[in-house]
Amino acid sequence: MSKPDTKSIPSAPNDPPLVQGYEVVIGFETHAQLLTHSKIFSRASTQFGAKPNSQACAVDLALPGALPVMNKRAVECAIRLGLALGSHVAHRSIFARKNYFYPDLPKGYQISQFEIPVVQGGEVSFFMGTTQKTVRLVRAHLEEDAGKSLHEDFVGMSGIDLNRAGTPLLEIVTEPDMRSSQEAVAYAKELHKIVTWIQVCDGNMQEGSFRCDANVSVRKPGAPLGTRREIKNLNSFKFMQQAIDFEIRWQIEQLEDGKVIEQATVLFDPESGETRAMRTKEDAADYRYFPDPDLPPLVIASQWIDEIRGSMPELPRAMEQRFVSTYGLPEYDATTLTQSQQMASYFEATVAACGQAKLASNWIMGELSRRLNEADLEIDNCPVSAQILAELISTIANGEISNNSGKIILDALWTDSSTKISALIESKGLKQVNDSGALERLIDEVLAANADNVAQFKAGKEKAFNALIGQAMKASKGQANPQQLTELLKKKLA
Ligand code: ADP
Ligand code: MG
Repeated sequence: MSKPDTKSIPSAPNDPPLVQGYEVVIGFETHAQLLTHSKIFSRASTQFGAKPNSQACAVDLALPGALPVMNKRAVECAIRLGLALGSHVAHRSIFARKNYFYPDLPKGYQISQFEIPVVQGGEVSFFMGTTQKTVRLVRAHLEEDAGKSLHEDFVGMSGIDLNRAGTPLLEIVTEPDMRSSQEAVAYAKELHKIVTWIQVCDGNMQEGSFRCDANVSVRKPGAPLGTRREIKNLNSFKFMQQAIDFEIRWQIEQLEDGKVIEQATVLFDPESGETRAMRTKEDAADYRYFPDPDLPPLVIASQWIDEIRGSMPELPRAMEQRFVSTYGLPEYDATTLTQSQQMASYFEATVAACGQAKLASNWIMGELSRRLNEADLEIDNCPVSAQILAELISTIANGEISNNSGKIILDALWTDSSTKISALIESKGLKQVNDSGALERLIDEVLAANADNVAQFKAGKEKAFNALIGQAMKASKGQANPQQLTELLKKKLA
């Protein structure tokens, strides 16, 4: 395998943030479990949560004579990811045996890819505030998962569950391009978004479908790369941030105490908030990698890649740019609305029905998202459909009701979206007063009752104007059209 000469990678050009005078260097290895029905080399099911050992066949159990057969769908997932990340999809890649002993690995080796992986190069880029950050990828290779040791249910013994053995994984490896825990988490979130978006992984971190190993080192600016420690199996963004932050502080403390960092694999303990060494790190040579004689080279025809390219959805970054150019949305709105495909299509359906892109964006990012969060709902299960939200937005856009009344109506729709919006406006008395004659009468009353504010305004106190608007709004029970009210009041006081 041609590994990059990481020692020669210079500091990032735009001064990375330093922690106590140290530069932080992070590289990620992410295991994404692929969305296939069966295992990577057998026909056993990959369904999560089944009774232990009920989904392990002769191949997964490594019974003598059982031979692996490649799952086409797993390869398709790898190709999809390669296309989404701008990588090179190798026309010929090789499966290799990674040899080690562990009770949950009955073959005594894991089938992986070593020298020639299926996906090579590519990048993931994302925004940190307004600055764009690009993380280069080294590779993504196909491999099988191992089984699981169960310690909880047994006293003095451990059990082995081989249901997970042979589950298809893509291991996605970055260059050591990240310079802070924040960048690392942002990278992981972006990658998570992409793999779920293109439907190669369900992204369920609790079930272990997307787990990250963070390689962390520190160095003085300009010095060669420091020795890394690898934090294994981070399966929540919160723990990821905590684990990396702890690790950075720990490494700096060691170095400041005059100690050296030893390359190691560590685990994060969420209880204590600390990382603990699990084993000193093996080198590739320890695994005696060699090409698996049971599997021929994986050959991928250009035509197949082209077919898959044709079936790819619009990617989040492209969609984001389209939201800015077609709908005239600010960058921030476009980024937020493309956080998930579901949110993006809800937005597009709303705009298609009401034509009000910015209002739709405001309502979805604000009132709707807040209610969804409170109810712990995904937008797919939103009790108010895009069509109904669009109708509500139209009544606001044409001045029939105020923005604030819109919120009251949304509350009502939230519990029962079958009621007509017009009926709700009527029954709640929320119709906005747009009649200038009525508004003028209202203003006259307010001016008469608040002579002191009028005097203050005439004496140059701008604030008194707002007080008068407030009074008029209150007198209209919030139903006066605010723009009209402002204009009429300005005229009266001129
Ligand atoms: P291995 O395969 O032995 O784990 P690799 O060289 O493939 O080692 O690197 C694994 C990961 O560690 C990659 O994501 C790489 O970017 C990252 N990495 C390598 N060196 C460092 C370092 N000094 N500090 C932080 N990360 C590193
Ligand atoms: Mg590794």
